Amino acid sequence: MTVFILSLLFIPLANCESNESQVYRIGVLTVCGNEECLKERWTPVVAYLSDCIPNSSFEMVPLEYDEFSQTLTNDNIDFFYSNPILYVEMARVNGAGRIATFQPLWNNFSYAGMGGVIFARADRNDINSLQDLKGKSFMAVSDRSLGGYLAARGEFHLEDIEDDDFSSITFADYQRDVVLSVIEGNVDSGTVRTAVLENMIREGIIGRSDVKILSTKEYDAYPFLISTELYPDWVFAKTASTGDEISKSITIALLSMPADSEAAISLGASGWTVPADYSPVDRLMRELRYGMYVDYGKITLREAFIQHWYILGFVLMIFAIFVVHSCWMLEKKKKLQLEASNQLKDLFMDIMRHDLINPVNVIKGFSDVLYADEVNLEKKESLKTISKQSEHLTSMISSAAKLARLESDEDMEFRIQDIGAILGMVADSFSPEFSKKGINLEYNIVQEYQSKVNDVIEDVFSNIISNSLKYSPAGSTVSISVQDEGKFWKIMVADEGDGIADNAKPYIFDRFKRADKKGIKGTGLGLAIVKRIVEIHKGSVGVEDNPKGKGSVFWVMLEKA
Ligand code: ADP
Repeated sequence: MTVFILSLLFIPLANCESNESQVYRIGVLTVCGNEECLKERWTPVVAYLSDCIPNSSFEMVPLEYDEFSQTLTNDNIDFFYSNPILYVEMARVNGAGRIATFQPLWNNFSYAGMGGVIFARADRNDINSLQDLKGKSFMAVSDRSLGGYLAARGEFHLEDIEDDDFSSITFADYQRDVVLSVIEGNVDSGTVRTAVLENMIREGIIGRSDVKILSTKEYDAYPFLISTELYPDWVFAKTASTGDEISKSITIALLSMPADSEAAISLGASGWTVPADYSPVDRLMRELRYGMYVDYGKITLREAFIQHWYILGFVLMIFAIFVVHSCWMLEKKKKLQLEASNQLKDLFMDIMRHDLINPVNVIKGFSDVLYADEVNLEKKESLKTISKQSEHLTSMISSAAKLARLESDEDMEFRIQDIGAILGMVADSFSPEFSKKGINLEYNIVQEYQSKVNDVIEDVFSNIISNSLKYSPAGSTVSISVQDEGKFWKIMVADEGDGIADNAKPYIFDRFKRADKKGIKGTGLGLAIVKRIVEIHKGSVGVEDNPKGKGSVFWVMLEKA
């Protein structure tokens, strides 16, 4: 400690030994409005420092509030004198360091600290506490003055009074204008920095009984009316890049500035004191989200993720479990519904097959017997119609039952089979009918065509071949072939019938859709069954005009095994 103090005392001497004079720039926050006033106050201070610290000279640089931070960081400023708000910001953001706190003098009395005084006109019986200010107009000097506004805002904040709670907040040019506006009744209430009221009372501008102080506080040895916390006064500080030696010299010079020196008098100071604790100012700025704290407490999405990823992960996990469970339940419900509807369909099909087809067969049987014995030609014709219609009804019922069964393809088993062999077998079974109708049936299936199919594929071939038989005239040719189409086998049945009109092609595969029937019997379900079976096999089906010029070509694509 002794060595440190001795080293401090020897600094000026050390500097004296050097002949070179170094210039140090002191940035001073402008408050009195013009530079002349500032120069007047600071010229004796600059001279005092130059005297105290040999081989050093000082230059005062006036800085406006708005340019303060930027100039301080860019313009080779070594020291600065500012209000506590700017100092706290410079310390936090730019690494500035406090050197000494200004010690003001009032009425030959040295005191420390400053704050705000909140007041209304004395005769305002409706205003007795801060809460009474809600809905009232309020005046201050500037929204960045600590004693002149922010200190009061800190008190309002503690009482949950927000800016919006006032009917208006206006700002005057000078602190004294705030006091006069309140007394003249232009505004309901206002705040000024401590000591302003006392100065005006002393000068006889107002009387003490003219104003009513709200939320009065008392601090030891503090001589002024005050409504807020007590904050430290202005500060002399160094910028981050300023060297330690010169900073020590300045500290010694300021702390030892006599109260009766020209420098102290021109500043209105009793001198300087050891740097005060500025953390209350920092706290106030944070609470008010002021200056550098404007976004304080606002969490970005990224920060939220980094801070709470585990909660988020947990929530997502629960959500995923919930989704999976819901899907599973839904699937289960659907399966149960499907099972129930399949059971209903099975029941319906059984009814169709047994309880409808059997009586229809009985009707057909009896009508055939009666037809054989009947001699009356008219009655015979009627019996023939009954027999034909019964036949139609039977084929209708069995086609509809087949289509209904195909709707649920769940339990269908597929195995690799030679579809060429199936096609040949179906064609063979139709061969006698083709001969009977005088139609030439051509097919030449020489190799195996492996595909993974269900036995029901046989119905596809028999439907298409039976249609070619039905819709082709005698003397024409029906040819069946299989073509290699890369991943698929293309099965084609070409006939030389009347063909299918272009506008009918898109819908003949729909249920009960029949093109020009020309008196040919049919249910309109055959191709719907074909389409459904091909869909189940994930294949495709279609019809084109026969390139030979007459008739159509029905084709089916089935994947190779
Ligand atoms: P249908 O029992 O009426 O034959 P399909 O579903 O098998 O029912 O056929 C639907 C319609 O397609 C038929 O009514 C017919 O008009 C037309 N059609 C099917 N195959 C052929 C074909 N080879 N030539 C001409 N028209 C056909």
